[in-house]
Amino acid sequence: MSHKFKLLIDGDDRDGIAGEGEDCFNPATGEVIGKIARASLSDLDDALNAAERGLKEWNSVVPWERGRILKNAADLLRAQQDEIAKILTFEQGKPLYEAKEEIQRSADFFEWGGEEARRIHGRTLLGREPQNHVVIETHPIGVVAAFTPWNFPMAQAAKKFAGALGAGCSVICKPSQEAPGSVIAMCKVLIQAGVTPAAVAVVFGKASEISAHLIASPIVAKVSFTGSIPVGKLLAKAAGESMKTITMELGGHAPTIICGDVDPEATADFLAKAKFKNAGQICLSPSRFYVEESILERFTARVAEHARAWRIGNGTEPETQMGPIVSERRLNAITELVEDARSKGATILAGGNRIGDQGYFYAPTVLTDLPMDAKVLHEEPFGPLLPIVPFTNDDDVLRLANGLEFGLSAYIFTNDSQRQQKLKDGLQYGAVGINDVVTHHPEVPLGGWKESGVGTEGGTEILRPYQTTKFVSIQ
Ligand code: NAD
Repeated sequence: MSHKFKLLIDGDDRDGIAGEGEDCFNPATGEVIGKIARASLSDLDDALNAAERGLKEWNSVVPWERGRILKNAADLLRAQQDEIAKILTFEQGKPLYEAKEEIQRSADFFEWGGEEARRIHGRTLLGREPQNHVVIETHPIGVVAAFTPWNFPMAQAAKKFAGALGAGCSVICKPSQEAPGSVIAMCKVLIQAGVTPAAVAVVFGKASEISAHLIASPIVAKVSFTGSIPVGKLLAKAAGESMKTITMELGGHAPTIICGDVDPEATADFLAKAKFKNAGQICLSPSRFYVEESILERFTARVAEHARAWRIGNGTEPETQMGPIVSERRLNAITELVEDARSKGATILAGGNRIGDQGYFYAPTVLTDLPMDAKVLHEEPFGPLLPIVPFTNDDDVLRLANGLEFGLSAYIFTNDSQRQQKLKDGLQYGAVGINDVVTHHPEVPLGGWKESGVGTEGGTEILRPYQTTKFVSIQ
């Protein structure tokens, strides 16, 4: 199957006039599934001009109607989920049922963003003088430049489009080159649902060139990025040059504290399932396992059993529990982390190897006896790795948990309410699961503390990153 992933500008598909772009691979086979168009600077200028016009047109659609259109988009996405899930699985690798879950979650974001659009309001204050009053108006911030990753290619883009379109903004999105098709499909659904075509653009090409050009443009008012901390810093710096506001959803390395009072087998069952979802390529994935000494052996044995038995395969096969890693680049990064741990004396209880030489499969891997300088304990693995470290004292484990630059999500497993309270209060993270692992649904605001991000996405405040105010003083 060979396909051309085209640019989408002003409602039209385009080849991109910078010539042949990159190949897109099926990570389950390593085969090329298509060519990705490459935008030239003049394509980007066309996208910017269209978005500037799209902003005016879309913002003139009253919020109540924007809400209806976004609900319509949600319904259309749900109706087309079987077809779009195949695209998502082909390009990203995840099992089909996970692809469908992602499409449903994306639809939920549009429905939610549309509902919140209907609640946009201003306020009026009485003035300092009896004849004076002040009206505080809410406005869309303007044209949004959005840069989205490959792990949940549709859902990560949907969060940004739902907030921005709900607020009345237009969006130019640069999706990842690894998984381009599902974002194109989603944007076509938005236009089909009634969103102003000029308010929705998708561009591909060299990421650094595109971000530099879009962010520097005076037409762009807001930069929203999901990806790694180093790239987030680059884009934040570029946005700072022209004082543009930013939303950054960056990496995590979630500490998962498992106390001695829980059932070690049941907790291992629960956590193995959470860990191997999307092959561990989730910023909220539990990723550093601190296990109290008293249950270390039982928890570790059970989780290793799961790792050995997990069914790895092509996401299109119904029995597959975990698909491939998204790309050769990411496969190499994961391999490097495991080899670093192995060379420093870690025990690999399960996995620790690539599976086959077709596609980018990596075995679910359980690591113990880790020295504290093992890279996997410091760098986000973003793969199916379970590094396990014993602990005996809550203050020590909190120090370890908070000891990195990350602050996205953290997990506590204990039935002792006092320990729940102490650990929850001590964790410097934007999301905490107690006997739970979190998923980002639209009704909750997700935002990283420390270097894991700036601002939040979702929640009743989903529109706020895409809004600005104007106060009008009336005498
Ligand atoms: P990455 O930051 O290199 O890439 C993520 C996205 O950013 C991709 O779509 C890529 O095309 C884009 N990108 C890269 N350089 C860019 C630039 N100069 N301008 C604009 N866009 C650019 O990350 P990666 O190595 O592909 O993925 C792994 C890392 O991504 C993980 O370590 C994780 O921290 C992070 N990540 C985080 C989330 C999240 O929700 N917070 C989601 C996915 C990935």
